[in-house]
Amino acid sequence: MEFKEAFYKDPYSTEHDAKAISCIPGKKGYEVILNDTIFYPEGGGQPSDRGFLILPGGERLEVIDVKRSGEDTVSLLLPAPVPEGAEVYEEIDWDFRFSLMQNHSGEHIVSGLIHSEFGYENVGFHMSDVITIDISGELNWEQAMDIERKANAVVWKNCLVNIMFPSEEDLNSLEYRSKKELSGKVRLINIEGADSCACCGLHVKHTGEIGLIKILSLIRYKGGVRLEMVCGKKALYDYENKQDSVTEIKNLLSVKPDEVTDAVRHVIKESAEKSARIAGLNSRYFDMRVQELKSENDIIFTVENELDGIEIRKLCDRLNKSGKAGTSVVLAPAPSVKKDGGETGGETGYLYVIASTRIDLKAAAKTLNEQLNGRGGGSKEMIQGTFFSDLGKIREAVQSLSAIISAT
Ligand SMILES: [Zn+2]
Repeated sequence: MEFKEAFYKDPYSTEHDAKAISCIPGKKGYEVILNDTIFYPEGGGQPSDRGFLILPGGERLEVIDVKRSGEDTVSLLLPAPVPEGAEVYEEIDWDFRFSLMQNHSGEHIVSGLIHSEFGYENVGFHMSDVITIDISGELNWEQAMDIERKANAVVWKNCLVNIMFPSEEDLNSLEYRSKKELSGKVRLINIEGADSCACCGLHVKHTGEIGLIKILSLIRYKGGVRLEMVCGKKALYDYENKQDSVTEIKNLLSVKPDEVTDAVRHVIKESAEKSARIAGLNSRYFDMRVQELKSENDIIFTVENELDGIEIRKLCDRLNKSGKAGTSVVLAPAPSVKKDGGETGGETGYLYVIASTRIDLKAAAKTLNEQLNGRGGGSKEMIQGTFFSDLGKIREAVQSLSAIISAT
């Protein structure tokens, strides 16, 4: 690696004149090699740049991908061909690139501090919406927050980020982090007082440009930990999203921002208490219904407008166990009538639970679902689902259940 491309010479260059050297059609598009480029090819954990290539006629081609296709060559994947020898103009998506630089440099600081404080290595690094770092040893959240504070102190000191190409001799005497054994020319990213690491990625000039480093999560992973973090603009966006969430919750609960956690705990406790109270009332209601409901031809049939799917199951179970009828059928209007994942255009439906000690419901379910445009099933003793049919037809079908069974 000779580090001679334009993106290395000036990582802050956003526009650039270049000349097309070759253009080869491939499966995903045209692979174009320029005499030099400011488009960074994917590497060292850093994704490739995005942007446009502008042709002499003014046509703007979106750069689909950038890859290193040889030791000294970088190829741009484009949706259309570029004539060989054409004078072209490169424009990179600077917002995207600068964010990557902020995040990559921030990651070095965090990994460097973890290395110097705990001796752990960064053994995996991935950049997408957030940065993921796998660390070779265990850290707890408090230790991670301590690292975060120290990393931000490095940001505020606005330290110089030095790119060095030490000689092989000098390299032997230098302390630096590296994921693999290196030979030949090594590119070291040195952040004053924080880190020294072999890396081929692009970085900010001064740590102040990182803006903010925020660790988002920490989980145990492969004998160490996996950290998720964001830097710079991504950290600001993350703060904005969280601020919006807290504001919405505080408004919904009419409390001050610092009272949100206690208020949510209170709502959860209150809700659990109400659920317990409803369960108690339901139980008494079910007892009442078991007393009230009458069997007709060995079937109890009831529509419970106020109950949900779980409650009708409990009522049906209780009716069945009472022994008042061989078969109990409990229905409730379906809350939102959807079929096959889509709206059914106003089709009415009923949730059903049927329990029986007399007939094989597993066999009956198929026939009932066919007759009543339904879905669902269960065991020999109990079935549940939804019928998309009117009440009259459901009642009729259920009353002839015994006949259906004897016919099948
Ligand atoms: Zn790096």
